[in-house]
Amino acid sequence: MTARVLIVDDVFANIRLLEARLTAEYFSVLTAMNGPQALDICERGECDIVLLDVMMPGMDGFEVCRRLKAAPSTAHLPVVMVTALDSPADRLAGLQAGADDFLTKPINELALLTRVRSLVRLKHLTDELRARASGTQGLGLPDPLALAASEDGMNGQILVIEDRQNIAERMSSALLQHHRVEIAPRGHEAGTRVAQGDYDVVILSLGLADTDPLRLVSQLRLNDKLRNLPVLVISDTLDDPRVVRALDMGVNDYLIRPVDRNELIARVSTQIRKKRYQDRLRENLQASMELAIIDPLTRLHNRRYLHSQLQALLADNAHRGAALSLLVIDLDHFKAINDQHGHDAGDDVLRECADRLRKIVRNIDVIARFGGEEFVIVMPDTESFAASRVAERLRAAVESEPVRIAGGNTVRVTASIGVATGIGDRTNAKALFKQADEALYAAKKSGRNCVRLAA
Ligand code: GH3
Ligand code: MG
Ligand code: MG
Repeated sequence: MTARVLIVDDVFANIRLLEARLTAEYFSVLTAMNGPQALDICERGECDIVLLDVMMPGMDGFEVCRRLKAAPSTAHLPVVMVTALDSPADRLAGLQAGADDFLTKPINELALLTRVRSLVRLKHLTDELRARASGTQGLGLPDPLALAASEDGMNGQILVIEDRQNIAERMSSALLQHHRVEIAPRGHEAGTRVAQGDYDVVILSLGLADTDPLRLVSQLRLNDKLRNLPVLVISDTLDDPRVVRALDMGVNDYLIRPVDRNELIARVSTQIRKKRYQDRLRENLQASMELAIIDPLTRLHNRRYLHSQLQALLADNAHRGAALSLLVIDLDHFKAINDQHGHDAGDDVLRECADRLRKIVRNIDVIARFGGEEFVIVMPDTESFAASRVAERLRAAVESEPVRIAGGNTVRVTASIGVATGIGDRTNAKALFKQADEALYAAKKSGRNCVRLAA
């Protein structure tokens, strides 16, 4: 998977070195020699990942990282800090600035490529979610990018999978200041426990005695619901080949023992921030998909949904030579309700009528608010006689008792209904609608509050 990598370093020789390694692996490389220049490139959306030198004159790497992570337009960009010395203080400062990872000079080639690849994979996923979320602007949903950028990664629910009690407790005590922590002392039960819980991060020890921890990783990654759950593995030694395997399998991060307490805290909140960021984008997507087919006032389906379903149901009925009925329901003198009681009262009436109608239709029928005070019901496998009986029940339900409106008042409401029925292969949506509309018009003309069948 290729990507655009931005290398930021004030020393030209350092840039050249990294550039050579990355272009050899077919990454496309951009370079910047100071912080402001790097920020510009990121803001213009020209790169997918940033390799950021810490020590630079003027604006240092920590500051660049802080600014990137604070802006909604760049908060999702993965940032890898390149530190001269492997000092825990530098790492911690970087993590607190929001860095996603570290590389220590001189840079180990394997570490470079693994980290870049895994962050790029994540970035591409996030990009897709962001692109879809940007299509939902203007729908009145909360801005997921702004919400996500302000996420602090605290108050998470964490599961530590570790069978050595003292080690597990030390980790748990470090994390307890900011999170809720549970310990799973038996590896073979951990999979079930993760599936049943609602965790933000799982910390998995590679030193488990009773289970192959990579088996557990594979189990988690194959589970649809747990695929995006951040997993952080902890290894007892630096040269454990399973760390690289684990990263290849989609583990999000790793730590080597002895684990620095603050680094553990920082890495866990980085994972929580990323997870919540993606959750926010997914929720936004879910809400927007719902908005596309649901009428927000009545929670019935909308016109667009009904049209698409009607086509499918007609095709199915045509295939079987079955009858399909279409009901058009229009509230009577609705304008007068708005005029006398106000628009909000009108909305109450629409909601209540929608509920009364919804209770009567079958599961296989499609009911939609078609517009204003007009509802449409599609009934597959329904002859005109059966349809007219249902229509009569619908009409009676609307009239049955006065509708309660805000302010404690009630209003009497009635509806007129037009019914049209077609045999699947001898009709189409347009013809059915025309017939039902004509029947509705006839109902209105003959005094309202009644049902008429198409000729
Ligand atoms: P008829 O018996 O002939 O159907 O008369 P009507 O007054 O029901 O029909 P008309 O089409 O003249 O008026 C419909 C009214 O519905 C006009 C419009 O302002 C109102 N309306 C449309 N959408 C909404 C809505 O979402 N909320 C409210 N409160 N009113 C709405
Ligand atoms: Mg009306
Ligand atoms: Mg009308």
